[in-house]
Amino acid sequence: MQQIRASDSPLHLRHNEIQANAFQKRKGLKMTNGPVDNIDRRAVWGRDEGHCRIGLVCDCDFVPFEEMHLDHVIPLSKGGTHTWNNVQTGCKPCNLSKAAKI
Ligand SMILES: [Zn+2]
Repeated sequence: MQQIRASDSPLHLRHNEIQANAFQKRKGLKMTNGPVDNIDRRAVWGRDEGHCRIGLVCDCDFVPFEEMHLDHVIPLSKGGTHTWNNVQTGCKPCNLSKAAKI
């Protein structure tokens, strides 16, 4: 059984906070967009079984992890949040197509 040392926890949380803030800065987000999860791209890809969930251009084809685009179901620009339930696996053609339409 793996033991979690008490000293690990604050540093871990701080790391997530820094990553979330860095993400918001990169995207130029306002802090009013709501909660921000520390999204693990590989976990999202695994949950979606490696298939494009946008399906605008492709037919929900398999997307290699290296080529995955992390798509926001509700775009951040429309008030969507960077959270587990609002992200999905996308392929490049679909993601670019979606961005052009919304
Ligand atoms: Zn696609």
